[in-house]
Parts: sequence; C-alpha cells; structure tokens
Amino acid sequence: MSSESNWLRRTKIVCTLGPGSCTAPIITAMISAGMNVARINFSHGNAQEHKALAQLVRKLAKQQQRVVGILGDLQGPKIRIGRFSAGKVNLVQGGVFSLDGNLDINSGSSDVVGIDYANLPNDCRVGDCLLLDDGRIALDIESIDDQLINCRIRIGGVLSDNKGINKLGGGLSAPTLTEKDLLDISLAAEMDVDYLAVSFPRSAADIERTRSLLQSAGSQAGIIAKIERAEAVADQSTMDAIIRSSDAVMVARGDLGVEIGDASLAGVQKKLIKRARQLNRIVITATQMMESMITSPMPTRAEVFDVANAVLDGSDAVMLSGETAVGKFPVETVSSMARVITGAEKIPDISRSEHRLHQKFSSVDETIALSAMYAANHLDGVRAIVSMTETGSTPIQMSRISSNLPIFSSANSNKVHQKLALVRGVHSVLSEVSGLSPDRANQMVVDQLLDLGAVNLGDLVIISKGDYVDMHGGTNTLKIVRVGDAIK
Ligand code: PGA
Ligand code: MN
Repeated sequence: MSSESNWLRRTKIVCTLGPGSCTAPIITAMISAGMNVARINFSHGNAQEHKALAQLVRKLAKQQQRVVGILGDLQGPKIRIGRFSAGKVNLVQGGVFSLDGNLDINSGSSDVVGIDYANLPNDCRVGDCLLLDDGRIALDIESIDDQLINCRIRIGGVLSDNKGINKLGGGLSAPTLTEKDLLDISLAAEMDVDYLAVSFPRSAADIERTRSLLQSAGSQAGIIAKIERAEAVADQSTMDAIIRSSDAVMVARGDLGVEIGDASLAGVQKKLIKRARQLNRIVITATQMMESMITSPMPTRAEVFDVANAVLDGSDAVMLSGETAVGKFPVETVSSMARVITGAEKIPDISRSEHRLHQKFSSVDETIALSAMYAANHLDGVRAIVSMTETGSTPIQMSRISSNLPIFSSANSNKVHQKLALVRGVHSVLSEVSGLSPDRANQMVVDQLLDLGAVNLGDLVIISKGDYVDMHGGTNTLKIVRVGDAIK
C-alpha cells in the first residue's frame, strides 16, 4: 500500500523495534509498509539507545510526511529464573527440578536454578503450577522448604537462562512498578513518547499511580494497561476499573495466556475488545500474531485468520513483537499484516454498530461525535467524516462506532495526530489550519481530501468542530458539505 493511500486501511499496526529493525533503511521501509506506531520495549537496551531510536523514528516519519506514534513499554515485575552454568538444561517430563531463592543467580544446573524474586516461595503453595518460558515448561510444586521450591516436571523441554516465570491462575504479589520502571517513567517523559504501556497492572490504582508519576515528569502521554494478569480479568468490576483508568488497553496474550490458560484466551480477547470500545477506550491485540514470520517470509493460514479475527473483533490496532524486533523479515511482516487487515475490513458485517443505540449520550461533544457517525452511516453519498479537533477526543469517540467511512482528523498539534495513530479508522490531515477562519479551514481540509483521492467532486463530507478553541470537549457543531461547492 503506498503512503498516499494509507487511509484505506482502518486497523492500525504497532511494531516492536529491536535488533532486527533499528536501522534507518529498515524503519523507513516499515513506515512505508504501514507501521503506525513504534513500540520501544524498555525490557531490553539502555536509555541512550531508546532515546536515539525514538528520535530516529520521528525523523524518518517526518521525511515521509507520515504520522508515527511512539509507545514506550515498561518492563514491569516480570519474574525470571537465573542463569545456568552451562547456558541451558533439558528438563525431562516426570523428573524433579527446583527453584531456589538462595542459590547464586549464575549457578543453575539440571537439578536447580536461582530466581530473581525473593518473595516467590511465599506466593506459592504446594499443588500450584509454575509456567516457565511463556508456558513451554510446566512444573507442579510438590514441597516448599523456606527459599527452596521443589517441583515435578509436568511438561519438560530445554530451559535456558533468564526465562520468565508465571503462576497458573495468577497471584504473584510483586508490585507493578519496579525501581527500574520508576526510572523508565522519567525516561519516557524525556523521550516525549505518545503512549506508555504499564506491564502487569493488577488494578486501576496501578494505572493511576503511573499517570501521576508521568504527569509529574512533565508528560501527557496516553497510558496503556497491558492486560496480562489473571487478576485483571477475574471479575467485571476490576476489568472495568482498569479500562476506565487508562487511555488504551492491550490484550497481552503472551503473559495472559500463560496465567489464565490458552483455552480461555479467545473469549477474554473478545470480551476485552468489546468492553474497551463500549467505554470509549482504545484496544490493541498483541503477541504471536504472525510468529512464524520471525523465520519465514510467509504467514501461516492460522496467523492470517488470527489477524483477520482481531480486526473483526474490533481491535484498534494489532501488534507485532518478535516478528519485527528480532525477526528476519520485519518489512515483509508489516506488509503481510497490512494486506490481511485490508482484506478483513472488506467483510460487510463489521461496518454495523449498535454502540450507544439504546443509551443516553453523556455530553454535547459525544452527541455530536455519534450523530456524525449515525448520519454518515445512513446518508447515501457521504464519503468521509472530518473532525476538527483540539485534543483528539472527538475522533476517538467517533471511531467507537463501526463504519467503513474514513474519519479524518485535523488538529493543530502533531502530538494529537501521533496519539490518533493508534485509533482505528482515524487518519490525520496535516494541513495547517490554525488562524484560518472556520470556512477557510473547512475548505482547506476538503481540498486536501480531494488531493488524497479520498473524495470526489459531488461527494458529501461531514465536518464536526467546536466553536471554542483550546477547549477539551468543545465540539458542538456538525455540518454536511458537498465537495466542489463553495464552503461557508
Ligand atoms: P510483552 O507483553 O511482549 O512485554 O511480554 C505482551 C504480552 O505479554 O503479550
Ligand atoms: Mn507481557
């Protein structure tokens, strides 16, 4: 898909950057292929590298006149085993293996390995199941003796250094924000990220704390709650509170699948996406979407269906992890994902919506946003919706309604455009409208849609805007114009 026609794809693509994708030519090609948001994972690399990478992405996006958001991702309290003297061991099903908080972190053997979290033995009970390396290895706890956790190997395999530990069913008590995360929150503010993702939040309080720390550091970045603990989805009120406290949620299927079991994952994905949209929040579906493309230039059929189904479920964005961070085919993966998304979006069912159909609206700007979408979906001849926005909130509310019409946002701040890079169906018009009279601004945006090929002469365009400038939630007018007529 060429950069000019990028607005034809509604569902956005988040790409994790890493050793496989940190050079200018590869990032440039990934932007051309459809990367909308770059994820910089604070679990790997150092502050200097993260800052340089963010600057590089911003520079290359600008060169292509494209909007690319930047998402910093906190490491969070991921608990890991230590290292093995010989690098790795083979665990045999039915045998025994221990985790030991007192063992030197570098001295693991085929009998026992150290752990980087001293409280693990207190969080575990005999009979619990520990899952190592994203669930590839399963251990049943048979006895606990102070810092020593003795296990029977239920599923064996090769276990190498520093692999993650999860407990089936959740319940590990490590606090959400680690010392490193506190430093990385300041780093994120310095990098001027558009979004900051919180790993392993257990409650809305975790998100609120992150937001206040981030704001004290001078950043207004959106906060993404990664849903990856069993506790976060255990009951509706916790889930709702986490969604409401954040700007976006991530269905973080890697860790979540390990904690709740893979059989529950598809149902939880659908529920989270639906609920996030109902509550006017953005939602990302993540992890192993095109995993085989780490080593292969073609996705499997199952991966094609996974991406397509995430689109049909209503995701704002789908995310690539190892595929782009360490894979051999980062650019091909982004192209394949864009192609599959565009195909899925042609399925007629997904442009129907019942969002808020039987409810009262809660504010004037929400009323305008939803009325605009209702009009657009019901009036023949409408080809585009334009939101003249100060903060980006109106296009987000608009895009909670399914539609196959593009929503173009016109804003004076590049920060707003970068935040909207994550939002389904919303595309930035980069014309400078500040200081123009309202009719001139409208004319200029419509002319730009003509240039883009998004509309033709005679088409209808719905425009929403606020009478007041610089005011959150100020959208109060909606008008319908015909392309080619003089706009007032
Ligand atoms: P991660 O989070 O890639 O940072 O582990 C996503 C997930 O767990 O799915
Ligand atoms: Mn995770």
